[in-house]
Amino acid sequence: MWNRKFRFVTLLTALLLVGFLSTSYISYFVAHESIISQVEKTTLPLTSDNIYSEIQQDLLQPIFISSIMAQDTFVRDWVINGEQDEAAIIRFLKEIQVQYGTVTSFFISEKTHKYYHSSGVLKTVNKINPQDAWYFRVQGMHQDYEINVDIDTANKTSLTIFINHRVYDYNGQYLGAIGVGLAVDAVKLVIENYKNRYGRQIYFIDKKGSLTLRGTSHNGMENIHQEQGLSTFSNKILSSPSSFVIYEKNGKKTYLNSRFVPEFDWYLIVEQQENQAEILIQKTFMTNLLVSAVFSIIIVFLVNLIIGRYQHKLETMATTDKLTGAANRQVFDVLFSQAYNQSKRRKSQLSTIMFDIDHFKQVNDTYGHSGGDVVLKNLTQTVKENIRKSDILFRWGGEEFLIILPECELLKAADIAEKIRQAAEKQDVKLAGKSLSITLSIGVASMLENDSPADLVNRSDKALYLAKEKGRNRVEVANNLLT
Ligand code: GH3
Ligand code: MG
Ligand code: MG
Repeated sequence: MWNRKFRFVTLLTALLLVGFLSTSYISYFVAHESIISQVEKTTLPLTSDNIYSEIQQDLLQPIFISSIMAQDTFVRDWVINGEQDEAAIIRFLKEIQVQYGTVTSFFISEKTHKYYHSSGVLKTVNKINPQDAWYFRVQGMHQDYEINVDIDTANKTSLTIFINHRVYDYNGQYLGAIGVGLAVDAVKLVIENYKNRYGRQIYFIDKKGSLTLRGTSHNGMENIHQEQGLSTFSNKILSSPSSFVIYEKNGKKTYLNSRFVPEFDWYLIVEQQENQAEILIQKTFMTNLLVSAVFSIIIVFLVNLIIGRYQHKLETMATTDKLTGAANRQVFDVLFSQAYNQSKRRKSQLSTIMFDIDHFKQVNDTYGHSGGDVVLKNLTQTVKENIRKSDILFRWGGEEFLIILPECELLKAADIAEKIRQAAEKQDVKLAGKSLSITLSIGVASMLENDSPADLVNRSDKALYLAKEKGRNRVEVANNLLT
């Protein structure tokens, strides 16, 4: 019975836990996936697109200016005519710089290798000077212009875009390289804006993973290969035109979107840390788990209590006489063997007392069956007051009772029987305004070696019969030698 109850409660606990846990986890999982998917598919790519379009806008203007400069007939005529008046070209370059607000403007002549700048003739470019390498690259270039992004190595927030445009004479002969340099301020502004408004980190890295351009506030990262957490994904980022990775940064989950910007030969990186919504659903998940656990405990506790009560009630109903509350005959065997073993262990005697109300029919006849019931109840109470807690009172049938007295020898049992007889006789029951008293006939016996429970009961019964025969209202002790 207990085992079954345990199995049921365990099963119920398991079902509740599985139910609560799975629903909590599924809802957490769905919410979590949708947040990640939103970050991966929408948030970060949109930011990346915006930055990219800002870059393109920043690029269009210098390309346009350089193209106009390359087409300019004054410039071409001046070169063709032998670069006579140097002040004229310097004035031209200065005009361009002022008019378009560029950082620099320049022309390098193929013929003289002179570097003309808005501020004068700077130098003569030389193949062996690494600083001039760009010119010789443009010299052999097939397309009309190139974009060369140069950063101030001392300050990575500042970036200049140079457009190096090839210049031709009217016959298509190469005359030199002309162009302007522009600060990429807009990109910097957008980077800062995203950082401040959305807490997104935006920066550029070159094909080797080194940081090339960043906003003013950026952590000290120099190369993604050396960045803890990120280094695991650096090859993935640097080997595909765009990617999405999730990595741990200072113990916080960080989402990263990368895209290759062909104009610069750089990767644009947009990062976002685990956001509020995600922390919120994690908290909700934990709360759900806690609530589930508390509910499971309460439900299991209540079910356990209810089952326990019903079990107790059923057991009591099955083993107790409804009217008197004494044990019934069905549990005699079980309780007898317990008492018997106990007496045996302690090497003491076990006795029984059997009693029957004298002339009970008359009580019923005079006071009705319900009157008789009251008498039976009162008697049970009186008897219980005169026996020990360890003694067990059975309603043997009708108005006949049996008491098992563990660890009690025959004479002691006889004393108790006498006490009961006297107490019953003294008992004064009020029925229908009249006072009524009853008497008992009692038989006492004790367990002999090789006795079966039936033998013992039998001898008590016989002693009781003897008491009846001898005139009732008396105690008779079974002659243990005569069974
Ligand atoms: P004796 O002295 O020989 O025992 O006479 P008696 O009248 O008591 O005779 P007996 O023991 O044979 O009678 C038992 C009576 O007890 C008969 C029955 O109607 C009555 N009785 C049995 N169970 C109940 C009960 O639950 N309630 C009531 N009120 N009466 C009961
Ligand atoms: Mg009787
Ligand atoms: Mg009887």
